[in-house]
Amino acid sequence: MAEEEFIQTPKGMHDLTPEDCAYFYRIENACRRLAKDYRFDRIDFPILENALLFKKGTGANTDIVEKQMYTLRTKSGEVLALRPEGTPSVVRFYLEHGARTWPQPVKLWYWGPFFRYEKAQAGRYRQFHQFGFEIIGGGDAALDAQVINLFYRLLAELKIKNLVVEINSIGRPGERETYQKVLVKQLKKSESELCVDCRRRLARNPLRILDCKEPACQEIVGQLPHVVDYLSDECRQHFQEVLELLGELNIPYRLNPHLVRGLDYYTRTVFEIVQSDDEEKKALVGGGRYDGLVELLGAPPAPAVGAAAGIERIVSAMKSSGHRVVYREKPEVFIAQLGPAAKKEAIKIFEELRQRGVKVAEAFGRNSLNAQLKRADRLGVKYTVIIGQKEALDGTITLKTMSTGQQRFVKRSQAVSLIKKRL
Ligand code: AMP
Repeated sequence: MAEEEFIQTPKGMHDLTPEDCAYFYRIENACRRLAKDYRFDRIDFPILENALLFKKGTGANTDIVEKQMYTLRTKSGEVLALRPEGTPSVVRFYLEHGARTWPQPVKLWYWGPFFRYEKAQAGRYRQFHQFGFEIIGGGDAALDAQVINLFYRLLAELKIKNLVVEINSIGRPGERETYQKVLVKQLKKSESELCVDCRRRLARNPLRILDCKEPACQEIVGQLPHVVDYLSDECRQHFQEVLELLGELNIPYRLNPHLVRGLDYYTRTVFEIVQSDDEEKKALVGGGRYDGLVELLGAPPAPAVGAAAGIERIVSAMKSSGHRVVYREKPEVFIAQLGPAAKKEAIKIFEELRQRGVKVAEAFGRNSLNAQLKRADRLGVKYTVIIGQKEALDGTITLKTMSTGQQRFVKRSQAVSLIKKRL
């Protein structure tokens, strides 16, 4: 079959190569360590959820739900969605498992694939991976600071350079409505200069115009008043506290009055952690406070704050920061064999060495000794164990020290201990 006839991954979907998986492990290990330190418990939830969870939670008018959600109808007529984000599922979990009766706040984290029917481009996939940390049942500004702190430390631990927290407060729904009215009034004056998307947003979701990337829109946005000037004293005080705590923690932040985030449920603090180098700014983490979400999902209100990180983006930031993850450990010993009796011994000695913690490599599928020794050389092992017919019959092995080329016979019964001692 010609190569172009192979069935390929669907558009915007991608495989994780062994190298990608090594980066994923490294990141997941960092998440686990930090989850333990900051006392978050891991949960998992279904990849398919009731589509209503996102319509109600994320918001029916958001791009994620309106344009990007994969939905399907099952044979029995249920309407399900491939989860486009994690926060509504965490809140559903909190309600479904009676976590309101647990000591508050409840701190949970998750990890897995998410799906959005996006315009596929570099760094933007239709299936991508996120992890998220969420605190439900607490409204204190210290919790906002703690979430930002956790993500910032995690990225720093992964040796990602040039990190900045971009932060804003969008207040509560009432304040935002007043601000939105001011925005719409002012934007109407230059409606014809806005891009097509923003003209549509003007009627449906005017706040999103603030983070439009089109230069013409950005110029107009530059003249608009800032949402923080419309905050109540209480929200302003809350925001001030978050900023002071970030200062105490020495976390570099930049106020971004145009940061609104794409989801309906945010209240008060919204933030992104970006890697900004000279050429571009890449968002690695996005999150904020969502005091209204529990209530939106039908339960008495409970304040909450959290964020999610894009794992593919973190991998690419690690690479661009020079943090290489080796995906195959270098072996210390190679086992070469010649002949059927030797192969039996070789497979046993492999297992004994492995169980003693030695990193062993082999090429049991190859029968040419020359080819096996070449492989050993290429792998850069310290020792090669050679077992031929003679050794198999004598109950010995040949131990070759690769740096000097020196070879010696060793009794089979002593071989494993000797190798272990010498390494
Ligand atoms: P969001 O859930 O939209 O707040 O996104 C949180 C983070 O997930 C972003 O900062 C990105 O790092 C990552 N992310 C979101 N959408 C995608 C996507 N389509 N492909 C890859 N990463 C994404």
